Amino acid sequence: MEAFALWTSAEAASATHGQGDGFWTASGVSIDSRTVGFGDLFIAIRGPNFDGHVFVADALAKGAAAAMVDSGPQTLPGGNLLRVKDTFQGLNDLAAAARQRSAARVIGVTGSVGKTSTKEMLRHVLSQQGATHASVGNLNNHWGVPLTLARMPVDTRYAVIEMGMNHAGEIAPLSKLARPHIAIITTIEPVHLENFDSIEGIADAKAEIFAGLEPGGVAIINRDTPHFERIAAAARAAGAAEVIGFGEHPEAQAKLVKYAPHSACSCVAAEILGHPMTFKIGAPGRHWVLNALGVLAAVHLAGGDLAEAGMALADVTAPKGRGERHTLDWRDGGQLDLIDDSYNASPPSMRAAFAVLAMAKPSNTRGRRIAVIGDMLELGPEEQAAHVGLAADLVREKIDLVFACGPLMKGLYEVLPPQMRGHYAPNSLELIQPLRRAVRSGDVLLVKGSLGSRMGKIVEDMLNPA
Ligand code: ATP
Ligand code: MG
Repeated sequence: MEAFALWTSAEAASATHGQGDGFWTASGVSIDSRTVGFGDLFIAIRGPNFDGHVFVADALAKGAAAAMVDSGPQTLPGGNLLRVKDTFQGLNDLAAAARQRSAARVIGVTGSVGKTSTKEMLRHVLSQQGATHASVGNLNNHWGVPLTLARMPVDTRYAVIEMGMNHAGEIAPLSKLARPHIAIITTIEPVHLENFDSIEGIADAKAEIFAGLEPGGVAIINRDTPHFERIAAAARAAGAAEVIGFGEHPEAQAKLVKYAPHSACSCVAAEILGHPMTFKIGAPGRHWVLNALGVLAAVHLAGGDLAEAGMALADVTAPKGRGERHTLDWRDGGQLDLIDDSYNASPPSMRAAFAVLAMAKPSNTRGRRIAVIGDMLELGPEEQAAHVGLAADLVREKIDLVFACGPLMKGLYEVLPPQMRGHYAPNSLELIQPLRRAVRSGDVLLVKGSLGSRMGKIVEDMLNPA
């Protein structure tokens, strides 16, 4: 039992200045009554749509060890309550206490694209070297970061915390809570531009990750972005003891030396902080190679074993919705390949995905490379041009057919050469039938769009036809 104790009632009360009755031990922390697990401490948070206090009895009935509340009844028959002044603050207090009691090396990850991919790569390689705790999925905001920290087991050796933002000022408090020893900035790109006046504004907002850097901490920054110097200066101003660049740039300290692309993996020669190494990455595409350089630099600086990490990269695969591969039986008796990149889209990640599609090998000679693409959202005033601009990439990568949906994709579809046009529909649901009719075994499909474009519906339908 003790091995699973994350929080005792006394520890949680002391961390949050809360008051409670009953002695309990929680093995997890949850803010979602739908997924709350047996033994969790359920924290009743007020979100934009729901107030968790409504679900307290429900969570306790599902086996939650206790519930943290700031309103409602003083006691609940058959359930343990921890009463605090404000549950959002309580969650943050628990997170701060978890960070305070931990001896983990903490790695913070931010950037315009590639945060989750980088975080998952770090989790994969570090968990082979020591107890590793990382953000679940995309829990990277003002709820996700404290929740991740509050869930961090005491014996964690490596913690990997993803930090995301939509506005200036959002990352600094997350960083101050996580207090990273190592802060990685994956990329700076014009995404989420709708809330910013300039790309420099985005770079500055990402550089807020240095606000909580531990004394002696290290910044690991994409060396290939034109904003490197600006971010490096911010890192130094925030007290970074070292600034490491990763990428293809000749001055990068985690440097790409050679890249051999393959349809389902990459072979790489690199020099990581003076150590030459060669390794294979089990996910294809140059973007994975670049993310890996930052990952290896972080592993080395966190005291991990570089050679072991390099070997572990061979079995990295793209996470769900971010390039995950499926092979499925098709109605004509053959098989087709599907790349599920339906979680997220922006111009740089679209281009990265087209390059992966271009490298994919159809399983028979009739097979075609088909891009099934939906709108990229949150791009701001340049959104039309950003969509139309991708036509040149599709042509350059020799994509055979394009199926597109969404009001923004219409502009792109209309400028494509006629032989590349598969079908256009106003939304993803209306694209399903035309797509099903057109595809045949041997085809390779890339399905990609912003989450709000619901391209996942197409993936679901292809994997589990109704
Ligand atoms: P979010 O803002 O949703 O948290 P994120 O920064 O976590 O996004 P990922 O989920 O890792 O990003 O990746 C989003 C998309 O970008 C995926 O399609 C992924 O394959 C692609 N991608 C990952 N790394 C890079 C990179 N370095 N350059 C370009 N595209 C990338
Ligand atoms: Mg993410």
